[in-house]
Amino acid sequence: MNPSLDRTYAQQQDEEDVLAPLRDRFHLPARKGGTRSIYLCGHSLGLQPKSAASAINEELAAWAELAVDGHFDSKRPWVSYHEQLTPGLARLTGARPSEVIAMNSLTVNLHLMLASFYRPEGERNKILIEKRAFSSDRYAVHSHLEQRGFDPAMTLMEIEPRFGEYIFATEDICESIERHAREIAAIVLPGVQYLSGQCFDMAKIAACARKHGCVIGYDLAHAIGNVPLRLHDWDIDFAVWCGYKYLNAGPGAIGGCFVHERHGIALDMPRFAGWWGHDKTSRFAMPEQFVPLRGAEGWQLSNPSIFAAAPLLASLEIFDQAGMEALRAKSIRLTGYLELLLQASLGDHVAILTPNLIEARGCQLSIRIARAPDEARAIHQQLTHQGFICDWREPDVVRVAPTPLYNSFRDVWDFVAALHSLCIGSP
Ligand SMILES: *Cc1c(COP(=O)(O)O)cnc(C)c1O
Repeated sequence: MNPSLDRTYAQQQDEEDVLAPLRDRFHLPARKGGTRSIYLCGHSLGLQPKSAASAINEELAAWAELAVDGHFDSKRPWVSYHEQLTPGLARLTGARPSEVIAMNSLTVNLHLMLASFYRPEGERNKILIEKRAFSSDRYAVHSHLEQRGFDPAMTLMEIEPRFGEYIFATEDICESIERHAREIAAIVLPGVQYLSGQCFDMAKIAACARKHGCVIGYDLAHAIGNVPLRLHDWDIDFAVWCGYKYLNAGPGAIGGCFVHERHGIALDMPRFAGWWGHDKTSRFAMPEQFVPLRGAEGWQLSNPSIFAAAPLLASLEIFDQAGMEALRAKSIRLTGYLELLLQASLGDHVAILTPNLIEARGCQLSIRIARAPDEARAIHQQLTHQGFICDWREPDVVRVAPTPLYNSFRDVWDFVAALHSLCIGSP
């Protein structure tokens, strides 16, 4: 028997894993009876860093003690609180600090970006998305088309994978862009597709879009904190993300935006304006004329919720200590191990939808259990009942994401063993 199929192999991997102690910095959810769940759902809601509570409490205390003076006199003054989030976000996204901003939530940010970057001209008035785009992204794009007086039936372009497939071939995307370039004003694609777990070749697609004069923006909801990003070098126009998936900043956490430097310095760029995006030196003088800040900061509207920002700060500190490179290296091994075990012990009982290529995926594997839909759903419910937290996405996809910050090789082994006994029976 292959030695890696044995649980002692998983245990050995955990013992040799220098990142393993990070698990202890998170609260692992409890199960009835007091044991811990095996949490494989970081793609949906990341776990709570134990340091999040003290980060919030620090601000509650500052509010209690200083009240309005907390804006300027607290340990981390609220007027500039978001600036502390910038370096960590810049490192995770491969951006210059001036290109990123923590603010709002994902869909709001997508609207703000489309308000600036969707600039239809003549027959170049379409927005390209993918057919299985996350509902909120689709709604946002749809509403922008309507808002500008276009019929979405004519101006929303959707690309699909080849017939019967979940996975896009990069050359197909580039070919679509090339073929329709003169009609495409903007492209909005995922970094990592939420359902299939496919990581798009963001660099190549961006190069193709830019070559043909199309604006390119990425939704990084499932990419940030998961896969390496080089947004500046890839020369993309904009990106948006949320903070509660792999970023572990809590339900409804503060999200963020990337705006490439070449747009950030264009102060005449059309945008929805608010006082927090206005020149800091005259913000409180409240002049009539809006003067945007340079960089992504110039897209801010309101002063941010400090209590939403605090857990993100706590979480980014952990990312900085671990380093994205080390996390990615572990992630590749952890997900590869999940794949190996699934194939070796379940064979045809499951199909893995996520690409096998390392560059084309992050933590998540999307699997389909080869049973009638009701039976597959029941197996997922059994897993949940046994304390294995992964999720079910209609029509029939189970998403499983071992994350390098808090998952172990034993988590992966135990999950596959549980799935094995539900699908095939105990060995
Ligand atoms: C999670 C997710 C969202 C969620 O949007 P919010 O505005 O943060 O509620 C949007 N789009 C994608 C692709 C997502 O994965």
